[in-house]
Amino acid sequence: MDKFEILKQIFGYDTFREGQEELVDSSLSGRDVLGIMPTGAGKSICFQVPALLFPGITIVVSPLISLMKDQVSALNAAGVHAAYINSSLTEGQYRKAMELARQGRYKIIYVAPERLMTDSFLSLIQAVEISMVAVDEAHCISQWGQDFRPSYLKIVDFISQLSKRPVIGAYTATATKAVREDILCILGLRDPKVMVTGYDRKNLYFAVEKPKDKTGALLEYLRKNPEKSGIIYCSTRKTVEEVHETLLGEGYPAVRYHAGLSDKEKKENQEDFIYDRKPIMVATNAFGMGIDKSNVRFVIHYNMPKDIESYYQEAGRAGRDGEPGECILYYKAQDVKMNEFLIQQQGNEELDFEEQALIRERNLERLRKMTFYCFTNECLREYILRYFGECGGNYCGNCKNCLTEFEDLNVTEETRSILELVRSTGERYGIVAVCDGVHGAKTEKVRQFGLEANPHYGELKGTATARIRQIINDLLVKDYLVLTSGNYPVLKLGEKGREFLKTESPKPVVLKLPKQQEREESRSKKQKRKAGGETRYPQLFEILRQKRYQMAQKAHIPPYIIFSDKTLREMSTYLPVSQEEMLEINGVGNNKYQKYGKVFSDIIKEFMEENHIEKEQSVDL
Ligand code: ADP
Ligand code: ZN
Repeated sequence: MDKFEILKQIFGYDTFREGQEELVDSSLSGRDVLGIMPTGAGKSICFQVPALLFPGITIVVSPLISLMKDQVSALNAAGVHAAYINSSLTEGQYRKAMELARQGRYKIIYVAPERLMTDSFLSLIQAVEISMVAVDEAHCISQWGQDFRPSYLKIVDFISQLSKRPVIGAYTATATKAVREDILCILGLRDPKVMVTGYDRKNLYFAVEKPKDKTGALLEYLRKNPEKSGIIYCSTRKTVEEVHETLLGEGYPAVRYHAGLSDKEKKENQEDFIYDRKPIMVATNAFGMGIDKSNVRFVIHYNMPKDIESYYQEAGRAGRDGEPGECILYYKAQDVKMNEFLIQQQGNEELDFEEQALIRERNLERLRKMTFYCFTNECLREYILRYFGECGGNYCGNCKNCLTEFEDLNVTEETRSILELVRSTGERYGIVAVCDGVHGAKTEKVRQFGLEANPHYGELKGTATARIRQIINDLLVKDYLVLTSGNYPVLKLGEKGREFLKTESPKPVVLKLPKQQEREESRSKKQKRKAGGETRYPQLFEILRQKRYQMAQKAHIPPYIIFSDKTLREMSTYLPVSQEEMLEINGVGNNKYQKYGKVFSDIIKEFMEENHIEKEQSVDL
């Protein structure tokens, strides 16, 4: 078999996604690789395909027990012999797995890093041929990553124990330069092929909402999106509890997840969610690592996360099957404060004072970028892609900002007043004081700071404070102003702001403001269009989904391991009844066809008969 046959027959995919083929080819040619792709882009295929073509065994190092289990189940379901070795195995299971491994029964073995250097594992690898070592979640090796795991350093020792150096592949979703360099250096990759791709998840819709009442907004969203599976991320355990409680009260099938729950409850809730018994998950960021549930249709952030890395990773859990997903962030100013507080609290005993200060500063800077995401009126996707060093277009057509009609407001004069006030008061006051100052409010702060005496006091008397706040936020995003970190953040002039004040007739400053009504209209139109194009026979889709659910329950596997939503959608559009037609469907490979094909094609036949649908009618799509 060649790589395309493996892809089609084992995994059921027709084509490689962006970046996958290059990484597969490089590994197969014996070259080390570093693949940087966001969550859900399909990193596993990059090492699983070569693993099946190499003569020997591939060792996959992975940090998460749940992730290993999931991937191994998926491989087994596709007919590939694979196993995992981690602390969840009993002594007996472990011995059995090692015995079978020794007999060469497994093509792919997933191992937890702390197991690599155990005597039994080392003796195993002396006895078999290791063709490749694939390091999943490779950022765990770097102290700059979000999730440093000292046990990952054992990989290096492990590789040096092998009699013949295998091909090494490293894969991660974290793209910062420091992490990338750490991975390359520490793992000692040789002339590696480095691929950064797939940061753009075109099927995901992005939006930032600023609801006065978050609970109301959430309930409204759920009402409009019944039956969909989704995750609601909250920043604290307390909020998880509250939101979860509310949803239960409203009769939604929701489960909760946070670090304060017992292992048993966490496991149960996670499974209820994965198996679609309770399709709504309310969780802190403790939930999700290693969860590959492909039919998550929305990820709502009830609180703003601490940085774009976290946000994109969490939001990226929507739409992994390539079907439309919605990523919505509810912004409130308190979330910024909360995150600042958490960053200030963070400590790391292994670092000295200066290093800690540096890390804090870096974290605050990332938080600022996250906050600006909530205020930009430019394309949200573009903003994220630029953050990760990729170039998008300026208009994606699938984020709230791109779908919003804006009117341009020239705020050059307002900008001048604000900047002048900031400069003339010595750049030492916070947003509220500056805002009240230019507006000419008579507040305690204004009196205390003696702002009434400032020549720019009350220059924007005719402008509402809310609008002045909006302008200041926009000036922050555009770098006319910067906000210092710390307990009392103050406004200072940014580079653009200094430039502005120096120039006699500066470039006009334009504030983009949404035109309220049109926005709602264009969004719902778009939604309708999408919904119409999803599947030709929605009732059939429901029937297939039910069947899949029953089969999954029986087999104790998550439904998407049988077929993804996308696959079922294609089936309920193209109505495949013969083996040949079935294999044309995305996500149906030989193995899956053998296992499940007939059950599904029988249902389709029955549906066609009952509804008097002729085959000819369905092929024109
Ligand atoms: P990652 O490890 O990058 O987060 P995964 O490897 O878990 O992502 O893949 C994410 C999803 O994409 C999975 O559901 C997988 O089946 C699907 N996928 C991967 N490669 C392809 C492909 N070439 N065509 C279609 N679907 C794919
Ligand atoms: Zn956009």
